[in-house]
Order: sequence, then C-alpha cells, then structure tokens
Amino acid sequence: ENGGEGGGKEEKIYVSVRVRPLSSKEIEKNDHSDWEIINNTTLIFKNSLPDRSMLPSAYIYDRVFGYNCDTRKVYEEGAKEIALSVVSGINSSIFAYGQTSSGKTYTMNGITEYFVEDIYEYIDKHEERKFFLKFSAMEIYNEAVRDLLSSDSTPLRLLDDPERGTFVDKLTEEMLRDRSHLKELLGICEAQRQIGETSLNEASSRSHQILRLTIESSARQFRASSLSASVNFVDLAGSERASQTLSAGTRLKEGSHINRSLLTLGTVIRKLSKGTNGHVPYRDSKLTRILQNSLGGNARTAIICTMSPARSHIEQSKNTLLFASCAK
Ligand code: ADP
Ligand code: MG
Repeated sequence: ENGGEGGGKEEKIYVSVRVRPLSSKEIEKNDHSDWEIINNTTLIFKNSLPDRSMLPSAYIYDRVFGYNCDTRKVYEEGAKEIALSVVSGINSSIFAYGQTSSGKTYTMNGITEYFVEDIYEYIDKHEERKFFLKFSAMEIYNEAVRDLLSSDSTPLRLLDDPERGTFVDKLTEEMLRDRSHLKELLGICEAQRQIGETSLNEASSRSHQILRLTIESSARQFRASSLSASVNFVDLAGSERASQTLSAGTRLKEGSHINRSLLTLGTVIRKLSKGTNGHVPYRDSKLTRILQNSLGGNARTAIICTMSPARSHIEQSKNTLLFASCAK
C-alpha cells in the first residue's frame, strides 16, 4: 500500500476540477459548452459528438467547481486544509494543471492570496508559538531553473544534500517580516515572470512557476518542540505540452513540443496515486526533483485541474480529465 520512501502513512491526492466560464472570444465564435456539473463531485458530458462513445458520460472527482464558483470557494474546498497543514510541520504542494488559457494562473493567484491571509491569521491567533517564514520563487523553463526574486536570469543548479535532500543552489530565500512583505514579493515574482514572457515566445505555456513558503515554528516556552515545513504553489506549464503521451498509440513528436517536467510529474503522480511500491522517477525532471520532499511520502498534495467548457477544446479537456482521473 505504501509507495513512500519514508515508510510513513500515504496520503491520497486531493483532485478537483474547475470549469471556467466560456470566454467572450468563445461566445463570439458561437462556441458551446458540452459539460454540465450535476453535483459537487460530478461532471457530465452531455452533447452527442461523433466520438461520444469514447467518453464515459460521468466524471467523478473529490470536488468539481463550475463557472459559478469563485476562487475563494475553490481555495476553501480544494486547497486550504492541505496548504495549512504546513503549520503542523507537513510539507505540501498545490498544483494547477490544465491546458493554456484554461484558468491555471487565475486560480493559483487567487489561492495564494487567500492563503497569505489565512496563514497570518493563524500566526496571530497562536501567540504561544514563534514563527519564522521564508519565501522563495522559481520558474522552470526548458529544464532551466530561474530565480524569480532575482534579476539575474542565470540558470540555477540543483544539488543533493544528505540532510536537506535536493535543493536549488543560490536560490534567494527572503525572511518575511509580515504579510505586506510577502505581498510585495508576490508582486515582484509576477513582474519577473512577465519580463520572461515578452522575451520568450509563449513562455507561460511552457514554464512552471513554483512559489514556496517555508514555515518554522517553536513553542515560546518549550524550545524543543519546533516544526518546519514548506508549502508549494505550482502553476504548471500548459498540459497540451504533455498530451501526446496520454492518447494511446500516438508517437512522441519532437522534443520542443514536449515538456519533460510535466511528463515526469504525470508519471510520478500516477505512481503515487496507485500506491505501489515501485520506483517513483522523481529524478527524471527538475520539477519533480525540486518537489520531491513535498510530493508523496508524508507530504500532502492537491491538484486543481482547470478546463474550458468550450466544444472547440474538447480534446484537451478530455486529456485534462483523464489526468485528473489517473491522479485520484
Ligand atoms: P492559464 O494560466 O491556464 O493559461 P489564465 O488563468 O491566464 O489561463 O486564464 C485565461 C483567461 O481566462 C484569463 O483572462 C482569465 O482572467 C480568465 N479566467 C480564467 N478562469 C476564470 C474564471 N474561473 N472566471 C473568470 N475568468 C476566468
Ligand atoms: Mg498561466
């Protein structure tokens, strides 16, 4: 049952799906939605398309959010509990997975904002403990890791340490003073990412962004009881970068189209969700190496799969739901 290397209790991955509203562009083109959310956990494919026989009619996940759900609800019900386990010393990762323009960044930005409010509220309420918060942010583009808190875009190396595990060498780690400091840093990351986007064609569809908050705490009276853990907010590259392998029989096209980190993440997640004792190939990509301690084992994971409701995106939506089903 247990695939973790630490031998601890394995957590199930919490998988939710968020269907965004039709965009004004999609409405202009007279696109339609083929999906209906019939309850909190079930998505139905309702219209008859030629390949309808290929699709099961109902898709069931831990949670399904429709276009009438705001990001606060997605945060509260799809990420909050898992992200906040960081204060109990448990590592966690929250992912946004989906094709380009499906709502990953929209969702992840909102979730991060709500989390910042909650974490500081928690700290304010627990005066018996002393908290130290550190923040770092990175982007992985073509398997090169870039520091989003530095204007130096030299790729950073990953190093292995027997005690710390894999870490990103020379990555900026900011000691946080308060919530406004954290908000300021989030703004810097956003700006850094946009600079990257203008110089690199389609960068946001190809790159992964990891925002990491590390929280250490110790009891003011009993110094011995100290805890430390990280929570990672991961806005993934567009899932179309991995979709070829999901449809059986299709051969891998040229490397430029394929995103190694995204593919490896898919493999790692599928292995973890099956809970088999087999080898989990964390070391096959930068993303999974960086997140290894926050994925599997005792760590907790939530994946929010975002999709467009539009008929014109049916193939990619199908792939996203297939990924979501495999992760569950
Ligand atoms: P991605 O990061 O997956 O490429 P974005 O988050 O940039 O996609 O979303 C694409 C567009 O759709 C943006 O203009 C965004 O504001 C809008 N959008 C995404 N999700 C929602 C939603 N749930 N409600 C309203 N607008 C949304
Ligand atoms: Mg995006």
